[in-house]
Amino acid sequence: MNSQKKNGPVVLKGVGASPGIAIGPAFLIDNLKIKILRKRIKEGDIDQEKERFVRAITEAEKQINRLLTEIPDELRKHSGIFETHLLMLKDPMLYERTLKLISKEKINAEWALSKVLDYARELFEQIKDQYIRERIEDLEYVVQRVQNLLSGNPLVDFSQLEKPVVLVAHDLSPADTVQMSKGKILAFVTDMGSRTSHTAILGRSLGLPAVVGLENAMSSILSGETLIVDGLSGNVIVAPDDKLLKHYNEKQQHYIRYQLDVIRNSNFPAETQDGFRLKIKANIEFLEEIPSIILHGAEGVGLYRSEYLYLAHKELPTDEVLFHTYKEVAERLSPYPATIRTLDIGGDKFVSSVSLGDEINPALGLRAIRLCLKEPRLFRTQLKAILKASAYGNVRILFPLISGKLEIIEVKKHLEETKEELWKDGIPFDEDIKLGIMIEVPTAVVMADSLAKEVDFFSIGTNDLIQYSLAIDRVNEYVAHLYEPLHPGVLRMIHRTVEAAHEAGIEAAMCGEMAGEAMYLPVLLGIGLDELSMNSLAIPKIKRMIRETKQERCSALVQELLVASTAQEIRENLLEFLISNFPEEFNSSQGMYPDFSGRDMYSLSP
Ligand code: PEP
Ligand code: MG
Repeated sequence: MNSQKKNGPVVLKGVGASPGIAIGPAFLIDNLKIKILRKRIKEGDIDQEKERFVRAITEAEKQINRLLTEIPDELRKHSGIFETHLLMLKDPMLYERTLKLISKEKINAEWALSKVLDYARELFEQIKDQYIRERIEDLEYVVQRVQNLLSGNPLVDFSQLEKPVVLVAHDLSPADTVQMSKGKILAFVTDMGSRTSHTAILGRSLGLPAVVGLENAMSSILSGETLIVDGLSGNVIVAPDDKLLKHYNEKQQHYIRYQLDVIRNSNFPAETQDGFRLKIKANIEFLEEIPSIILHGAEGVGLYRSEYLYLAHKELPTDEVLFHTYKEVAERLSPYPATIRTLDIGGDKFVSSVSLGDEINPALGLRAIRLCLKEPRLFRTQLKAILKASAYGNVRILFPLISGKLEIIEVKKHLEETKEELWKDGIPFDEDIKLGIMIEVPTAVVMADSLAKEVDFFSIGTNDLIQYSLAIDRVNEYVAHLYEPLHPGVLRMIHRTVEAAHEAGIEAAMCGEMAGEAMYLPVLLGIGLDELSMNSLAIPKIKRMIRETKQERCSALVQELLVASTAQEIRENLLEFLISNFPEEFNSSQGMYPDFSGRDMYSLSP
């Protein structure tokens, strides 16, 4: 089948929803194309048509009940989805209404059911509560199951598959996904979906590699074609050649070994041979990542990018939605800290619910804390939710893009007033909640000694600090090559920030991407950062490297790097250090150990 692709392998780019690598034949499930036809039913056949509909509902109930009994233990917590589906089948809005339409309009059950779904969609659209509004997806799923039964096109029974396959679908419902645990599915890929869709969450629970949001998988893949699914990078390779197969077979083996290593070693402490202890935390965007970050050895969350909750919805999340999410984050991480960063939108992140106007230069525009201070209601809603959640765990607040002391004073004013409101209402919160600022604007570095007196910790955001200090747009591919964490000016800024924090008796963390990249670790250790927060998949390797070295050796290296005048000099010196101090990571015959920090592990080149 591979030969059908005249131009060789095709790479489709999506979102890695569940990590791992799978290689196998594609199996397309065409769950989009049931054509519903309108048919007129003769007066004398109406009862029969109604009976057909009732039988389909009964059969759907049986199928869902069967699914409920077969549900594997690790997915039991999701069984409520199917119980809801069972209730929907008999909900008068669906059941009675369809029966009534069949007799009133003398139409076939399929058509009546489609009309009922259209009507329900209109009603759901008017509902203000986003969570309830989105339940239309469950109703759509239930209707599809019944439509499949009516039209004699039942959903695929995966247990009947002859050999293991990679499932390709436009979209997959939670119920489809649950059936995948039967051992015949190697991975799944879908056109629709995001990392937070139910399907992606279930994929992670099942440990199946998955790529979602591919948009054109169904139109680009033929059934039976070999696919490589790389759930780590979000790539799907259609009809790979032998070279790619070999590459990915190796990558798959590395990943398997890596996973074993993760489980064995990830919870060992991040302590150097001379007793220097670093806190290693994870950056998260979603609540669902917590089990995985703990597995990877994170000692809490150093950066929760809270804006993703806003990005995921068309409307602003309510006070309650924010509170429940933050509370869950705090509870699930406790006693480890949950560092919640307040809204950082603007720049390259936009939400439809907040209008920012047209900006010529959004990276220098109404972004992050500036937006929050301009829109106090937006800010206060979030502060209130964070404070309320602080009663349920170890919550810290982190403010992004702080450029000077006046902003901190203003932020604190909002915080104090929000605390007062909670006091008045008798709502509990952590009165000593720790406050931190992101150091990502050059003036914050210059003023670090003064800012350190105002807060409990710093967290260096190198992604932005490098962007703003070297004047390069971090999302502009034309200047990407100028992005240089080893620029002597950047190293001196990091050094100065940590020094100022320590002089003031507060801790300095780093949560930019630099913190999770193995090659910079000796520099960060030598500078004396107290905490590194990173993509959780990078944690095991970073922790292991910390255990392999001595802090005093790294700090001697840093003394040399700080007097260098070019990035090239620093890089050469650092590479020499890496090769002699971390031979397994930087000098083995393979020259690689999987770090899955978002880069292809095969390109360890600096
Ligand atoms: C940073 O700027 O380094 C950072 C961690 O924040 P973000 O990447 O979300 O801007
Ligand atoms: Mg930033």
